[in-house]
Amino acid sequence: MPTTPEIVRTVGGLRDRVAIWRRDGGRVGLVPTMGALHDGHLALVRRSLDESDRTVVSIFVNPTQFAPHEDFETYPRDEARDIAAIGAMGTDVAYLPDASEMYADGFTTTVSVAGPSDGLCGAVRPHFFQGVATVVSKLLLQCLPDRAYFGEKDYQQLLVIKRLVRDLDIPVGVVGVPTVRESDGLALSSRNAYLSDADRKTAPLLNATMRQVADKVAHGDDVAMAETWGRVQLQDNGFDPVDYLEVRDADTLAPIEGALAPRRLGRVFAAAYLGKTRLIDNIPVARAP
Ligand code: AMP
Repeated sequence: MPTTPEIVRTVGGLRDRVAIWRRDGGRVGLVPTMGALHDGHLALVRRSLDESDRTVVSIFVNPTQFAPHEDFETYPRDEARDIAAIGAMGTDVAYLPDASEMYADGFTTTVSVAGPSDGLCGAVRPHFFQGVATVVSKLLLQCLPDRAYFGEKDYQQLLVIKRLVRDLDIPVGVVGVPTVRESDGLALSSRNAYLSDADRKTAPLLNATMRQVADKVAHGDDVAMAETWGRVQLQDNGFDPVDYLEVRDADTLAPIEGALAPRRLGRVFAAAYLGKTRLIDNIPVARAP
């Protein structure tokens, strides 16, 4: 088992490596990331290592999914630590393209996925999913793995990626991996490193409030009323602004009128700021039996 992954920085280098594995009949897993790896990312890597003969972890902070006022410049980066962490687990290749390798001069193509990109994060970050869909399409086509692994932490993103793979006939299985959390319920995120000590103490209230909203909806409360209750809780506890707190259909992301119908699977989605840090989370909800 390798303890240092091979470092590959070019599309050609990645294709050559994967072609050799394929000749030997190996199953290939790809884990796309933006680095600053934590145990949430490593759960994806673990799953790929368990299910594949070879695993590629890509680390690329994708400029096209950040708006000009967002944190592209300051996004946490620690290549050496990331490589050591995935190497210790047995990752075969760390794929680290730079921006000019990913977006050559004159690059003009974008992938946009109508439907799952609409609403929620798509409403408040208008270019975000187009940036994600374009870079993920490229990563999948560059590597052509058997399976690619994504976190349910970014559930709307997972649905966008499932749809683009289906619509563009990309021959890759998309695997969703459950969210890894701190013991107080806060979903692990590279951006948690931005939180002040005081905000870190408040942050678990996001998930706790969402669980209370889910509990109300599970017991048949009106969804709009539960959403309003949750938003007010967050605002009263210092989350500002609350971008959204909404319960949607888990498969289609359609809004829910009235109460959640029995047997319909819902999902509570929230995005809210503590100071300058934007936290997002989502959890499932079904009607209590
Ligand atoms: P990022 O580096 O934030 O773009 O995330 C790379 C991948 O890791 C995405 O598929 C995320 O959904 C996933 N991920 C991030 N945080 C978590 C978490 N706490 N649990 C599970 N997966 C996660």
